[in-house]
Amino acid sequence: MIISKNPYSGEEISKIKEFTKKDIEHALVNAEKRFHSWKSTSFNERAELLQALAKELKQNSREYATDISLEMGKPISQSIAEIEKCAWVCEYYAENAEKQLSNEIIKTDASESYVSFEPLGIILAVMPWNYPFWQVFRFAAPALMAGNIAVLKHASNVMKSAANIQKAFERAGFPQDCFQSLVIGSDKVEAIIRDSRVKAVTLTGSNPAGSAVASVAGEEIKKTVLELGGSNALVVFEDTKLTETVKTCVMARFQNTGQSCIAGKRLLLHKNIAEDFLEEFTKQVRELKSGDPMNEETFIGVLAREDLAKDIEEQVQKSLDMGAEIILGGNRDSAYYEPSILINVKPGMPVFEEETFGPVIGVTTFKDEKEAIELVNHSKFGLGVSIFTEDLDFARKIIPQFEDGAVFINDLVKSDPRLPFGGTKSSGYGRELSEHGIREFVNRKTVYFK
Ligand code: NDP
Repeated sequence: MIISKNPYSGEEISKIKEFTKKDIEHALVNAEKRFHSWKSTSFNERAELLQALAKELKQNSREYATDISLEMGKPISQSIAEIEKCAWVCEYYAENAEKQLSNEIIKTDASESYVSFEPLGIILAVMPWNYPFWQVFRFAAPALMAGNIAVLKHASNVMKSAANIQKAFERAGFPQDCFQSLVIGSDKVEAIIRDSRVKAVTLTGSNPAGSAVASVAGEEIKKTVLELGGSNALVVFEDTKLTETVKTCVMARFQNTGQSCIAGKRLLLHKNIAEDFLEEFTKQVRELKSGDPMNEETFIGVLAREDLAKDIEEQVQKSLDMGAEIILGGNRDSAYYEPSILINVKPGMPVFEEETFGPVIGVTTFKDEKEAIELVNHSKFGLGVSIFTEDLDFARKIIPQFEDGAVFINDLVKSDPRLPFGGTKSSGYGRELSEHGIREFVNRKTVYFK
């Protein structure tokens, strides 16, 4: 049995029977069968189904959102926003996939030469619990539009949401087995990757999980896309609009109770504005409303599991032992961790070096642009960076010096179906979303007529 528990109340939410070997085989046989018909459907047919799915998500957003909040403690208003974003990505690919995958004509010596983009077959997605719907939809919408079939191994603590996603596909009228959720633990993943019917894997999650999955896929010569951890920096230069920037930085770090790969986890402040900035920042963080995730007013819920809150506690304690100072928060109650601010944070401390997946921010000051860039690039992660300055020429000048997959100026790093999303270094490789994302799991076939 795979059991989901409400991290706020401790109550059991669902108990789903784990797939046997036979069940997994049955799912793969059906997925393979479905691929043969699905790959020859037209873009129009696929787009109509995806639009129906978007409609289904919008119509029943509260139903799906409620289970997200119960299962992993996300405040309900943020769960509803997550479902709405999933509808958006469905609409986006319904409208754009055909254009993005149309033949790319290339002039050569041939009478005609082009690249066509054809589906690969069954794609396995290993997904995490922090955005139980969004992480899945941003993979599934482009994969299905490209003519692939999706099988999902969702995180064990959000199997009810996994079942709900499958239900949404069914309600929208998708042919059976285009999308299937496999109720399995992580120990069953290796055999599925090695199965010759499975053509590629995408994983969003921790570095150990990414490394394990990519190693097996590498042995089998199968393509992977990895979207792993991040430790984004929020870099505030001297010339910013203080209150507005503080507000953006608070959102960047504390939405989803800090459990986001692209959250701004390291706050780097120019030394001349650090004091004023911190005063306003602390005030705004103190005002964030913690409480029952089912309450519409709640902004900070609980972490998805108690062990994740304990991890945060440990990262904070070790950083304090190494000389950091806490100016707000620092207490844990079961899966709840108080919004916390640490100052005097230096490279070498866990809150600087590691991914902190919770409502904790480490503050470091810098004296000039050179030091700021060094501090940003010091991280082993490279998902994204936000820089705050009113001098856009200066911003343009320093953008190439950051090693990350994304640079956002005067805003928090966010995912948008129209823009590619992904990292460098230990944050992974490959891109999701936009035209770049839909072209990850296709055969780019070169065609040449003499
Ligand atoms: P994991 O990376 O362990 O879980 C993510 C997914 O990978 C789950 O479906 C999990 O399954 C699966 N998985 C884990 N290990 C393996 C493996 N060896 N082979 C195949 N699949 C595997 O994340 P945790 O829940 O343990 O969270 C730990 C930390 O990971 C967080 O604190 C955060 O730092 C990071 N993380 C990053 C995310 C991101 O968005 N980049 C999202 C979630 C976590 P199962 O649940 O059954 O173990």
